[in-house]
Amino acid sequence: MKSYPLRRRQVIWKNLLFFIFTSAVMVAGIVTAVRGEGVSAVGWGLFAFYVIATGMSITVGYHRLFAHRTFDAHPVVEALALFFGAAAFEQSALDWSSQHREHHKHVDTDLDPYNIREGFLYAHIGWLVFWKHTIDHGNVKDLSKNPLIALQDRYYVAWAIASGFVVPTLIGAAFGYAWEAFWLAACARIVLVHHATFCINSVCHLWGKATYDIHASAKDHWFVAFLTNGEGYHNFHHRFSGDYRNGVRWYQWDPSKWLIALLSYVGLAKNLKRVSEFSILEARLAAERERVQLSFGTMGDHPLRVRAERVARQRYERLQESLREWEKAATAWRELARRGTEEQTMRLRQALAEAEERFQEHRRRWEHFVRYRAAVLAPAI
Ligand SMILES: [Zn+2]
Ligand SMILES: [Zn+2]
Repeated sequence: MKSYPLRRRQVIWKNLLFFIFTSAVMVAGIVTAVRGEGVSAVGWGLFAFYVIATGMSITVGYHRLFAHRTFDAHPVVEALALFFGAAAFEQSALDWSSQHREHHKHVDTDLDPYNIREGFLYAHIGWLVFWKHTIDHGNVKDLSKNPLIALQDRYYVAWAIASGFVVPTLIGAAFGYAWEAFWLAACARIVLVHHATFCINSVCHLWGKATYDIHASAKDHWFVAFLTNGEGYHNFHHRFSGDYRNGVRWYQWDPSKWLIALLSYVGLAKNLKRVSEFSILEARLAAERERVQLSFGTMGDHPLRVRAERVARQRYERLQESLREWEKAATAWRELARRGTEEQTMRLRQALAEAEERFQEHRRRWEHFVRYRAAVLAPAI
């Protein structure tokens, strides 16, 4: 492995002291609230607003808009994401995106800034406290051309203090709740959003489901998705990082995706990038196929192994073939249906329905094999 010139072991005092300071103020605030009269509605309201605004600025803004360019946004959206993103105290958008692109490009290697192979604590927070990373903006030239992003990077500390501490505290003070605003909407909120974001790099690279790529350390973790506006579907995200969605199933919690869709609906976002449903399905089935193949390893020299492997291969090949046919029929339908005659349209619709039905049949057969492979093979024992 190439020696790592981009990091040096060193205590980053400013980060360490900042984490201690915000956590200590949060604890002091909780103590004063418990001993005193609790928290006012203004305090809770400001806290909730700041949790959502800064959290969304990281997930929708820093991550999906800037780091991955999964959609284009109106400058007003960019400015809001940069303002409230700074308030999250997770570096400038330029530094964040540069390190995040390195993470995707070199995941699980020494070149990954939050490499999970260094352990849970390193990936969660240790990389920010005990390591000095050199950031090379060579991989974010597309972003540094944007004057707003460049401006935020240049005056990042002033922006972060103003948007993260000064503004919420002043708003609280206007209602007579300066201390509440400071400890709850500024400090406690920073701690909460920090650790929620950090869970993506730690928890989601250790625990959860490998639905789309069994080789990735990134996993889909529903609870982290709940904490991070949908970012917890990290196995999907590492497999399809160019997609503006992270939770693609209808029941998955992904408010960042919903916000981007809403912005698009009102004309503040466009060119939302999505991978095709067929590619997603193909990846899911391929992951399932690999898991089945791995399970054969546990059969050792069992006489049934050869037969099981043959059945799996045949059923999976038919499944793949029927998926390709279905995709072809769907493409033909999309491209020709509107231009063709009524009769041609009817024919394409019929062909599409039949192709889907064939696929679903092969899928049932495949799933039956996956679920009941022991029973399917039983007669041969
Ligand atoms: Zn990751
Ligand atoms: Zn990412």
